[in-house]
Parts: sequence; C-alpha cells; structure tokens
Amino acid sequence: MQPTSSKPFSYETFPISGVVAYFSMEIAINPAMPTYSGGLGILAGDTLRSAADLGVPLVAFTLVHRKGYFQQHLDVMGTQKEEVQPWDPTDFCTEEPARVTVSVEGRTVTVRCWRYNLAGRYGHVVPIYLLDTDVDGNSGWDRGLTDHLYGGDTNYRLQQEIVLGMGGARMVRALGFRANVYHMNEGHAALLTLALLESQLGGGPLGEATETDMQQVRKRCVFTTHTPVPAGHDRFSTEQSIRILGGDRTARLEKLGCFRDGMLNMTLLALRFSRYANGVAMQHGKVSREMFPEFAIDSITNGVHAPTWTSAPIQQMLDEHIPAWRRDNLYLRNAIDLPEKAIIQAHARTKEALLADVAARTGLVLNPKVLTLGFARRAATYKRATLLFTDPQRLVEIATAAGGLQILYAGKAHPQDEPGKALIQKVVEEAAKLSNDVLRIVYLENHAWDLGALLTSGVDVWVNTPKRPYEASGTSGMKAALNGVPSLSILDGWWIEGCIEGFTGWAIEDGANDVEEATSLYKKLETAVVPLFLQQPENWAHLMRNTIAFNGSYFNTNRMVKQYTRNSYYPVKLIEQAKVQEVAYAG
Ligand SMILES: *Cc1c(COP(=O)(O)O)cnc(C)c1O
Repeated sequence: MQPTSSKPFSYETFPISGVVAYFSMEIAINPAMPTYSGGLGILAGDTLRSAADLGVPLVAFTLVHRKGYFQQHLDVMGTQKEEVQPWDPTDFCTEEPARVTVSVEGRTVTVRCWRYNLAGRYGHVVPIYLLDTDVDGNSGWDRGLTDHLYGGDTNYRLQQEIVLGMGGARMVRALGFRANVYHMNEGHAALLTLALLESQLGGGPLGEATETDMQQVRKRCVFTTHTPVPAGHDRFSTEQSIRILGGDRTARLEKLGCFRDGMLNMTLLALRFSRYANGVAMQHGKVSREMFPEFAIDSITNGVHAPTWTSAPIQQMLDEHIPAWRRDNLYLRNAIDLPEKAIIQAHARTKEALLADVAARTGLVLNPKVLTLGFARRAATYKRATLLFTDPQRLVEIATAAGGLQILYAGKAHPQDEPGKALIQKVVEEAAKLSNDVLRIVYLENHAWDLGALLTSGVDVWVNTPKRPYEASGTSGMKAALNGVPSLSILDGWWIEGCIEGFTGWAIEDGANDVEEATSLYKKLETAVVPLFLQQPENWAHLMRNTIAFNGSYFNTNRMVKQYTRNSYYPVKLIEQAKVQEVAYAG
C-alpha cells in the first residue's frame, strides 16, 4: 500500500516497499500555522519539503499544538509579552477517522490526528499527521496535552512525549502504513521505541523482551541528535518516569542503560534503540561522540529548503541563469559565473523589500545604500546577542567610518527563559542609547518564518556570535548564503564547514573570553567588511556569487535529504541484505 503518492512507487530509487515515519515535536509546516518555535521546527519542515520534492516515501508525525507557539510583543523597554496564538486545524487539515490510545499516569488517553498534505515540486505528497488529544472522553487535563509547544513543566513534557512517541508509533499502524524506518528527529520522540518493543512482544510485559526483540526494533530506528550541551538533552526523574510511564517500563529502561546521573535520558534511549545516529554538522557529530562515546554517531550537516528561503528577485535571477537549480540544488555551483550586475540588482530589490517591511512595522525609514547587518534567532544566552555592544564606542566609530551602519535584530526568548529575556532588554536598551544619524539599531518584534526570510535575504551581512561549541549547526546563515548574503560568524556549527575567509564571509577568531572575540568581530568589520563594501562593489558582487556557489549549493535540504536517504534510511548495504532476506528489513 502506497498512500503517499498517486504515482507508481519508484523501485529504482527505493527498492523496498514501505515508508519512513518521521517524528518531530515541532514542524514549521506553513507560515500561517504556529506549530514551531525556531530552528528545529524549521529544519523539520524543510526536510519534509525536500522529501516531497525528491519523492521520498515518507510520512511525518508531530503534535497539533492548538494554542500555537506564542506571539511576541515588546514594549519600549524591550520587555517581552507573550500572547497565545490559537489556530484551527480544520482550516488547513483533514481529520482522520483512526484512533489510538496511550497510557499516561495510569489513565487511558485517546489520540486522533489531522492530516496536512505537503505537496512537492512534482506532486509527490508527504502527509503530515498532527496528533491531537482534544477528544471526547478524555479528561479536561488530557484534552490539553497537545495544546502548548514547549509549555508547562517537565511532567507535561513527558506526557506530551508519550503522545508523540507511543501515540505516533501506534498511529502509523492505525493509518495502515508499513513503516520500515522510524526517524526520531531529536530525543522528544524516543518513546516510540518502547511502543515498537511492546508491539514486538504482542503487548506483553517489557520484562520479557529478549535481545532478539530489541534487535528487531533497532533495525527500524534511526536518530538525529541536535544538542551539543548535556543540559540540553531531555531528562526526567525516576519518580516522574514511574508515575507517568509506569513502574514496569521504568525498570526496563533502567536495565537497558537509558538512565544517566539518575535521570531517564531521552538521547540515551534513542541511541540504544537506533541502528544509525547522526549529529547535524561535522563538529556536532564529534562533540556528540565525546558525550556518548559508546555509540557510533555520524554527521549529516543540516541544510535549508532553497526555494522556501530565497527571495523572489534572487529566484528570478537563478531561473534565468541556472534553470536547473530547482530540480537539483547542486547546480547552484554554477553561480560562480553569474553576471555581477544581475546579483547586485537582485540583492538591491530584496533589500528594498526588507526595508519597506521594516518601515511598515516600525515607521523607521532606513537607507538602502547603508551597510546593513542582521542578527535574528532565538534569544538564548549562548548566542550572545549583545556581543556587538561589548565596546559601544568602537561600534559608533565603525559606523562613522562606514558612512553609516544599520543593524537589524529579532528573536523570541522562551517564556521561561529569564536570562534570554534580559538579553532582549539589553539589546533594546543599547539600541536606544546608541542609535543616532550614523548608527541605527532596531529590534523587530515577533521573529517567525516570514520575518526570518526577509531578514536573511535582505541584509548585507549575516552575523552570528554563538559561544563555542554550543551551536550544533545553525541554519539562518545558510538561508543568507542562498541569497548571496555572506556571514560574519564564530567558527561554530555549520560555519566551520562554510567559511572560506574573504570568499564566503569572515570568521570571528576564537578568543579566551567575550571581550577578545568582540575585538576580533570589530577588527573584521573595520579591516575586511567595511572597506570591501564601500570601495569594491565588484569584489562584493564576487563575494555574493561565491556564497551561493560554494555554500548555497551545499547547505540545502535537497542535498541533506539525499544523504539521509542513503546513509540513514536506506543504505545500499541494508537493501542488498534485504533482497536476500526480504522480511528482515521490510519489518
Ligand atoms: C532559520 C530560523 C531559525 C534558526 O536560526 P539559527 O539561530 O541560525 O539556528 C530560528 N527561527 C526562525 C524563525 C528561523 O527562520
């Protein structure tokens, strides 16, 4: 059965029947659906958009998040106010008749789902199922389990993870799919392995699971970790695990070595039950192997969905000069030969659109001729949004020497992240203090898909200042690169792979502390960025086309999904084995 596509299944590409079931706590599906918070959700959405373009037989599972991720409002002091964004799944999705149940704190909770059809470039559909516990018969509390993305406490989170992992795995079958690969995008979905193990045992007690049973589950599971810091991994106390998951399951998980430092660790659980695991950039794979030395963890570097994140003028330019780029993003390598004039004009039009939007949002009229820097991402402390203000006087001097400097900021802090919120206030405070005729600093409210696309494409330089090695990958600089916008960034995450000094952007040198790294940031602005921008427009155009040719051609999900397909989902080695012992791989 192949419900994912009306077209015949391609045996050349995927010689085994069945689907990949992809699980993610957040997915940026559609700009009008507030079902994501930031980079992880955007990555999941871009993965599915490319899977649809490439015709990969894949179906996806997430939670419906009826109350949405919050809308951000900032007052003049930069204090963040959060407003819920309820949305109605019936506006975008179709309800499925299937129902499954999960056990949460000893209660039986019924789960339904909504289907969103994500169509690719050639019509192949990747269905996304949004799991929903707002069902008659569930208690008031349980009906709210799929309301808030990253809301509530860890009790709420573990209950949501039961719905996503165990509810989702059961829903795969209830919908009639034969999944031979279960992809856990981050540890939030790790409990799906328990549902598979229980189904392997015919619903029997987990205590009776043998090594062979475990192998059967492992054969079908793959995992992507996204977090380079131990504290970032999802963890739950033994007490929570016993109370919410049950004593029998908790005992089994302990025996299987899924606890670390006395806590149930979802990354460990996912790793124990996966035949393949990867980090999301070369360095992140290395850091993950150091954190979990007993596992072989590969790297597949992230990307972004090229047509989603390139501006209309850039798309028109590419269509004219490199028509094959949409079918296969590798052809963007040919951007090396783009006429300087074409790229300068396409960028100028993109920048105009951004500045018009800024004017509409804030009333502030910025100058399209002035060097404009962008910094927009989650306001997490390790991203150091205030590094640019380490020496305010020097920043003013740089702006004066450059004949003007404009800096556009945006980003939401998680509602419970007080240090993150303080960072936003600090940026807003500095912006008010420093802004004058030559230096203009603006913090834009409510960073989301639409604003993110405008900013990454429309500024002149994309700035990123994470503290090493906390940035697993980062993807906003990839969006910029596809638009010919160079990065000025710490050598962390993807930028280690993407930075060719002076050709695709510039590296902020590693220092012993924030002050040293800020000093390098200023120096690069003074000696490299500003002179090139002001005095050598032709060389700036070359930098822009290098950025598309070298980085746009690689840091995209078209390449990334092909890597997942052959390295993670369907390695040729396993396919060859499966031809011999049919059922083994088809599960
Ligand atoms: C791309 C994107 C991100 C990811 O930003 P990084 O800090 O580069 O990982 C976050 N939020 C939104 C809205 C985005 O579009």
